[in-house]
Amino acid sequence: MGYKTDAEIAQEAMLLPIEEVAAKIGIESSALEIYGNYKAKIDESKLDYLKDRKDGNLILVTAMTPTPAGEGKTTMAVGLGDALQRIGKKTAIALREPSLGPVFGIKGGAAGGGYAQVVPMEDINLHFTGDFHAIGAANNLLAAMIDNHIHHGNELNIDPRKIIWKRVVDMNDRQLRFIVDGLNGKANGMPREDCFQITVASEVMAILCLSNNILELKEKLKNIVIGYTYDDRPVTAGELKAHGAMAALLKDAVKPNLVQTLEHTPAFVHGGPFANIAHGCNSIAATKLALKCADYVVTEAGFGADLGAEKFINIKSRYAGLKPSVAVVVATVRALKMHGGVPKNELKGENLEALEKGLPNLLKHVENMQNVFGLPTVVAINRFPQDTDAELQLIEDQCRGLGVKVVLADVWAKGGAGGVDLARQVVKLAELESKLSFAYDLQDPITLKLEKMVQKVYGGKGIVLTPAARKEIERLEALGYGNLPICMAKTQYSLTDDAKKLGRPSEFEITIREVKISAGAGFIVVLTGSILTMPGLPKHPAAENIDINKEGKIVGLF
Ligand code: ADP
Ligand code: MG
Repeated sequence: MGYKTDAEIAQEAMLLPIEEVAAKIGIESSALEIYGNYKAKIDESKLDYLKDRKDGNLILVTAMTPTPAGEGKTTMAVGLGDALQRIGKKTAIALREPSLGPVFGIKGGAAGGGYAQVVPMEDINLHFTGDFHAIGAANNLLAAMIDNHIHHGNELNIDPRKIIWKRVVDMNDRQLRFIVDGLNGKANGMPREDCFQITVASEVMAILCLSNNILELKEKLKNIVIGYTYDDRPVTAGELKAHGAMAALLKDAVKPNLVQTLEHTPAFVHGGPFANIAHGCNSIAATKLALKCADYVVTEAGFGADLGAEKFINIKSRYAGLKPSVAVVVATVRALKMHGGVPKNELKGENLEALEKGLPNLLKHVENMQNVFGLPTVVAINRFPQDTDAELQLIEDQCRGLGVKVVLADVWAKGGAGGVDLARQVVKLAELESKLSFAYDLQDPITLKLEKMVQKVYGGKGIVLTPAARKEIERLEALGYGNLPICMAKTQYSLTDDAKKLGRPSEFEITIREVKISAGAGFIVVLTGSILTMPGLPKHPAAENIDINKEGKIVGLF
C-alpha cells in the first residue's frame, strides 16, 4: 500500500539537539552526559533544584491480551505524549529500553511505530547507551564468582545442584536454555548443569529498575540469593563479595537516558524487564525524574494489563509510592477478532461477529484497571490501516453501551494530531480521584496472594501447586521472605497459563510450576505453565531482513 517503514520515517526526521529537548522540561545542560547529539544520560545529582517541584500526573498505558505482533502500547504512549504536548501540556514519556531478543525475533523494535516513535530508533533498538550490556556483565560477574568460589575450595559450602543464579545474554537463544559446563577436568571448574536466561529476565535488571540510586542498587545487589548450601542455608552475593564490583559496572547504566519523539517530546527510555517473565516496567528512577520535570508523564507497562500493569501496581508503585492518575487500555480490531476465534493469519478481512465475540477480553482488562486497581480508565482504539469504519464503530458503540470510556486514536498514521481526543479525555480523567488499590496484601501468605491474583486479576478459580512449588513456598516463608510481592511469569497470550485459551476464560486453574526468590529485587518469582526465561527465534527471524547499506543506514528494522 506504499506506507513508509518505521525506519524510513525515523531516518527522515529532523531531530532537535538533546540539550533543547532537556530544556523543555527544565533539565539544564550541566545535568546531561551526552552520547552523540541526540542521546543523553541524566546525572540526577545536578538536579537538586527540581526536588521541591510537585509531581505531575502519571498516565499508565496498558492493553488487552495482545497478538504476537503487539497491539501498539508503545506507539500509543508516544502518540499520546505528543498529543498532550500539542494541547499545551508540559509532557514527558517514560518507556523501557528494547531488548535485542525481540528486535531480531518476531516482534521487531520497541521504539513505537509510524509517526509515533522515539528517535534515534536504530540506536534505541540496537545497544542504545549500553545499559543492557552492563547489566549482563554485572550478572555474569556474579556467575563467574560463584563457580570460582566453588573451584577454589567452596568455603561457603555452596551446593552446585542448588545454584539458582543463571548466566544471561540479551539474545533469543534456545540452545543455551539447558547446558552442562565446567567440563574437561579439575583445572576447568566443577561440572554442573547450568542455564542461561535472557538479560531482560535477570534479577539485576529488576534491581536496576527498582533502585532510586546507586547506593540503594548496591544494597539490593548484596541481598541477591544465588543458591543454597548443602544444609539449605541461602547464600548471598554479599557473602561472595560481588556486590561492590557489580555496582561499579552499573554506575552509568543506573542513570536515566533521555531521547525525543518525532515531535520532540522528551522521552526517558530506561531499563527494560519483560512483563511475562519479569516485572515489565521502566525504571523507578526515570519515572520519578519524569514526574518531577513534567505535568503529564505517559508510561507503558508490558504486554496485557494482566501482566505489566498488574506488576506496575503491585510491585513498582508499591515500592516507589507511585500513584497513576489514569489507565489507558489499548485495543485493536485485530486482537479483538483473534479473541473472537479468528486464526492469526486470517485477521485482515472485516468480521463484525468475531469482533463482538472478542470484546469480553478487553472488558476484563478494563474492569481490572477500574475495579481491582481503582484507576480512572479509558479504552484507546489503536486504528490500523486495514480496519473498517463498521469495525471501529462497533467497538465504540459496545464500550459506550457498557459505560466504558472509549476514544479512537490514529497516532500511528498521524502522530500527536491523531491522539488529541485521547489526550483531552486523559486530562479530564486525571482530574478525578484515583484510589489506587492492590490485588493482595504483602502480609498475605504466599498461596493466598497467588489465589487473589488468579481470582481477581485473571478471572480464574484458583491455583494448583506442583510438589516442588509447594516445598519452595514453605521454605521461603520459613526463611522470612513470605511478605514480598509476587512477580508472576505467565504467557502474555491468555488470561490463563495456556496461550491457546483466548477471550475471557473462566473456571480455570493456574498451575504454579516453580517458585524462586529474588531477594535483591524484593519479590518472589512464580513460574506458571510452560513459560521460559530464555525465548527462541522463529523460523524466519526479523534478523534475516535487517541490514546496513553503503550510506551506513540501517534497513529492515521495524
Ligand atoms: P506494544 O508496545 O504493545 O508491544 P508496539 O507499539 O511496539 O506495541 O507496536 C507493535 C507493532 O505494531 C509495531 O511494529 C508498530 O509499528 C505496529 N503498529 C502499532 N500501531 C499500529 C497502527 N495503528 N497501524 C499499523 N501498525 C501499527
Ligand atoms: Mg511496547
